[in-house]
Amino acid sequence: MQTTRLVIVGGVAAGPKAAARARRCDPRAEITILEQGEFISFAGCGLPFFIAGQIAEARELMCTPVGVVRDEAFFRNVKNIRVLTRTRAVAIDRAAKTVTARRLDSGEEMVLPYDKLVLATGSRPVRLEVPGMDLPGVYTLRGIPDALAIRQALTDVPDVVVIGAGLVGLEVVDALLALRQTRELNVTLVEKLAHPLPTLLDPEMGALVAKFLKSAGVNFLPGREVRRLEGQGRVERVVTDQEEIPAQLVVVGVGVRPETELAQAAGLALGPTGAIAVNEYLQTSDPDIYAGGDCVENVHLVSGQKVYLPLGSTANRHGRVIGDNIAGGRDLFPGVVGTAILKVGTLNVGRTGLTVEEARRAGFDPVSVLCAGPDRAHYHPDSKPLVIKLVADRATRRLLGAQVLGPGAADKRLDVAATALTAGFTVDRLATVDLAYAPPYATALDILTHAANALRNKLDGRARGVSPREVRARLARGEDFVLLDVRTPKELEEARLDLPNVTWIPLGQLRSRAGELPRDKKVITFCKVSLRGYEAQLILDAEGFADVGFMEGGLAAWV
Ligand SMILES: Cc1cc2nc3c(=O)[nH]c(=O)nc-3n(C[C@H](O)[C@H](O)[C@H](O)COP(=O)(O)OP(=O)(O)OC[C@H]3O[C@@H](n4cnc5c(N)ncnc54)[C@H](O)[C@@H]3O)c2cc1C
Repeated sequence: MQTTRLVIVGGVAAGPKAAARARRCDPRAEITILEQGEFISFAGCGLPFFIAGQIAEARELMCTPVGVVRDEAFFRNVKNIRVLTRTRAVAIDRAAKTVTARRLDSGEEMVLPYDKLVLATGSRPVRLEVPGMDLPGVYTLRGIPDALAIRQALTDVPDVVVIGAGLVGLEVVDALLALRQTRELNVTLVEKLAHPLPTLLDPEMGALVAKFLKSAGVNFLPGREVRRLEGQGRVERVVTDQEEIPAQLVVVGVGVRPETELAQAAGLALGPTGAIAVNEYLQTSDPDIYAGGDCVENVHLVSGQKVYLPLGSTANRHGRVIGDNIAGGRDLFPGVVGTAILKVGTLNVGRTGLTVEEARRAGFDPVSVLCAGPDRAHYHPDSKPLVIKLVADRATRRLLGAQVLGPGAADKRLDVAATALTAGFTVDRLATVDLAYAPPYATALDILTHAANALRNKLDGRARGVSPREVRARLARGEDFVLLDVRTPKELEEARLDLPNVTWIPLGQLRSRAGELPRDKKVITFCKVSLRGYEAQLILDAEGFADVGFMEGGLAAWV
């Protein structure tokens, strides 16, 4: 039997995963990985923790769980895979089925024949096209050399500016907040759009992230256009359309673009997002060439549309499927639901599925709900708050998306929601899932179940939730309505909304004192998380009030 020749371009996540899986499926295949960089198979997602000093040595990012470094020797000895680092694939001859590669140190060129070729060329950071981007002290964060340079530069600077409040930008802020526990550091985060994580979260959830950043001492500047970076010899300040910010170190995280040059030069098809187009077997337009990871686009399983969502989780899943298929298998990668999570300071924040805006653009009629509450029994010492936003389609009641944030265990709720989205659950089905419960882990009805039920109530017309954002908008428009606070006197002492519209009647007195409220005005009830707010709405409905709603998420979601 002839030996299969497998060539893989790209040696970080998707590439090595494909190679390792192919080896397990085909012990005889001849496998070569080409990587233009110095390092292979490293955890890019761990770079912020290295910058923060929470990981002492960069080599730890390249180790197996038992501490063995995944270098060329490891791949050769353990997996019988040849890895050529500092070697760039420069051309593909699809007719001859060869790849030309150049050794970057010697300039030597080699031609490698293949039976199956894998492109795992990843992505590269978007360059901010403003003057001063090349000044020393300005970085993007992609690989280990960037992280080493940033960590080194951070040792003696007082002012850091992060440009871009996306996933990488916020993870860098997380690293800076960790460093700030032991030294002084002024952290500014500049964002072009109105709120952090603008491509992951709806505005009201983004506003809660902004509120947290402010409370953590981050100077968050939304709605800013960076005009230029200035300095004599190295960066000294960032100039936006509104201010000048001192900065001896700048990290730019304004997104990534798929690395498609090699594929394009070989005549492979790109998809509508500009990334390499692949089918469900992760084959490109040439069936002998596979592609995965950050260089390809995916099908969104909720919208059915092609999306570019570059993530390490997806890259590893792609790698396994490709590894199977290049070794003679027929494994499928149906698509993604867009699950992403990150930590910034004490805040966990993530989303899965579609935001309201994305759902609308995809042709759904989205209905959403905000729900706040503890992540485990409120009396348990580890209990922490969470805010969940669920989105569903009005007609079919299908779950379309979930956004979760707070110091509590957001990951678990996101993962349940991601599973429900993948299975195509309605919110009714989600509400009946048999979730694990004991006081250290959840509440008897988990907050995700509460959120699903709240959304069901809203879809049924029983609960008339008004988002805090809408309450704000009504206030800004000067609308005449009553904001009815139904909390206890003790809660009122702890925090109150200082607004002229606010009337206070504790829930226990509402039935007897409902007559004090005007019947000709809209009433919006609220409490700490608005469970009692909803009950208050029901009481006033029963008392014959015509226009009552409750503020979703209560004070916990108020910004
Ligand atoms: C700071 C940071 C934090 C992140 N955190 C998370 C997270 O928490 N969760 C998550 O899911 N994702 C996270 N990501 C994203 C994740 O790291 C990427 O999605 C993942 O690395 C993609 O893997 P990949 O193999 O497709 O591509 P890449 O990691 O981009 O690797 C591709 C490799 O191919 C090489 N290459 C390209 N062209 C050629 C060529 N012609 N010849 C030879 N070699 C070539 C490149 O040099 C590169 O080393 C994070 C990324 C960063 C930067």
